[in-house]
Amino acid sequence: MNERELLTNGLAQILPQVCPQVVDKFLDFSALLLEKNKVMNLTAVTEPSEVISRHFLDCAMVAPHMISGEKVVDVGTGAGFPGLPLAILCPETEFILLDALHKRVVFLQEAIAALGLDNVTAVHARAEEYAKTHRATFDKAVSRAVANLRVLSELTLPLVRTGGAFLAMKAEGCADEVADAQTAIDILGGSPAMIHRYMVPVSGIARALVEIRKLRETPEKYPRRFARIRAAPLGGK
Ligand code: SAM
Repeated sequence: MNERELLTNGLAQILPQVCPQVVDKFLDFSALLLEKNKVMNLTAVTEPSEVISRHFLDCAMVAPHMISGEKVVDVGTGAGFPGLPLAILCPETEFILLDALHKRVVFLQEAIAALGLDNVTAVHARAEEYAKTHRATFDKAVSRAVANLRVLSELTLPLVRTGGAFLAMKAEGCADEVADAQTAIDILGGSPAMIHRYMVPVSGIARALVEIRKLRETPEKYPRRFARIRAAPLGGK
């Protein structure tokens, strides 16, 4: 099976309809990513088929949770995951891709321009700094592979409006990590976390999406400076 078929078949298992132009954009992004990856550390994956199975299809599993007209922040997007695949799949949703590493953000800005996407912007900022000016301005936050949920919740939940949600992409066996983060999530105004388990098409890898609803405003004193968040994660004894 070639890459186009792999991607088309995989996406068809996640979403009801995916047009060939969407598949073209994914293949173009894969080419840009692998080319830039030769000179910059963007991903450990080097095979086009693995970009599809481990990045694109994994991230596409979050697309059914996206809603037209909503504004979504991807915290610690790295080379654009999960935010860029979601922006390709959900043109009516607006995405901000946030990362602390300037080089990765420049790559994303170039890729977004090359792909002609007008619903996504890459921003160079640390999440805890960005929250000072963008507190409670997002309907949703998403994140994959950035930090332990206790730390990550303090980086993301302040950005989400009351009534919105934070979706954290985690490994299948995340139950202990989630339980350990619940006190921090409560303090930050989040709901009891719900774990949705799923299998990624093509690779068959088992994964989990942790959904936290924002029930109350986050107290003003959060997020703290990163050194403090890391040294004393919220909800400790
Ligand atoms: N989410 C991507 C993925 O799944 O491939 C990237 C994961 S990479 C391991 C973690 C990324 O989070 C890095 O690019 C790093 O610069 C970014 N990051 C870590 N802490 C951050 C913070 N406080 N604010 C913004 N970005 C952060």
